[in-house]
Amino acid sequence: ATPTALIVGTGRGAQLGVLIKGPEVLESTRRIDTVVLDKTGTVTTGAMELLGVHPADGVDADEALRLAGAVEHGSEHPIARAIVAAATAKLGELPGVAEFGNHAGLGVQGVVTDVVDGPENSPQNGTVIAHAVLVGRPALLAEHGIELPPSLVTAREQAERDGRTAIVVSWDGVARAVLVVADAIRPTSAEAVRRLRELGLTPMLLTGDNQAAARAVGARIGIGPDAIIADVLPEDKVAVVQRLRSEGRVVAMVGDGVNDAAALATADLGLAMGTGTDVAIEASDLTLVRGDLLATVDAIRLARRTLTTIR
Ligand code: ADP
Ligand code: MG
Repeated sequence: ATPTALIVGTGRGAQLGVLIKGPEVLESTRRIDTVVLDKTGTVTTGAMELLGVHPADGVDADEALRLAGAVEHGSEHPIARAIVAAATAKLGELPGVAEFGNHAGLGVQGVVTDVVDGPENSPQNGTVIAHAVLVGRPALLAEHGIELPPSLVTAREQAERDGRTAIVVSWDGVARAVLVVADAIRPTSAEAVRRLRELGLTPMLLTGDNQAAARAVGARIGIGPDAIIADVLPEDKVAVVQRLRSEGRVVAMVGDGVNDAAALATADLGLAMGTGTDVAIEASDLTLVRGDLLATVDAIRLARRTLTTIR
């Protein structure tokens, strides 16, 4: 039978904006000593904005945005949404894409086909032009043997120094532009980190984003470089959680994305942002309904109180 105090705890959780899968979840919450926070969409709003387009020499910025927008249409990633929104606002309807492929935590690819609408009876009219487009983090391009020209290296470095994310657009095997995106830190994230520490917990930041962007966010919420793990591929997020557990830590993980699902399931306690993807919510023990990190603090305090009551 389920102890009454745990049932009460579950009900109280709902009032606090925390959905708890089962009363037994609160039990494991009590022993947590480390709280791993995903960056994008968890500490930050995930509502990314396109801040700039840096074309390589001889490349038309709008063409880079158009092709990137077309391919990102197939992705639900916050970065993809920002690029599609900016491309649509500036250029209207985007072309269709064939052979779409998603590289989780890395980027997207696809073939964009245009039919030339030239003067009637001109030889070009009706010609079909197809571009194989690849959009994503610099590591994805490197994997495909695509190097950045010096001007794009500079654009990338500048963006990352500013704590932003640089996304590279390439087509037909050549890097053509860097898109700069960023989002805002959620207003309560810094306070949540401070209060997790007050509870004696160690907050950490885990992200697939670049080291510089991660440190910029860490500095603003009070998580230092020693507690930041950046440039992590989705499959490696699980390995990080496993490593922390094998070091004897009891780990809570808070995340929102498809890329976080496996790590959320592997952690001693998985907490999903209610604003996140269904996959993340299904993989988790708790859902923070309002997408507010302060609810993590509430959930852990609630579990401790509830278990004190039954002991
Ligand atoms: P986080 O761990 O911070 O939530 P993700 O694992 O979702 O970040 O993504 C890691 C990185 O992979 C992003 O910062 C971005 O560089 C790249 N990326 C992921 N998905 C896409 C996409 N659809 N388009 C472009 N870049 C992407
Ligand atoms: Mg995320």
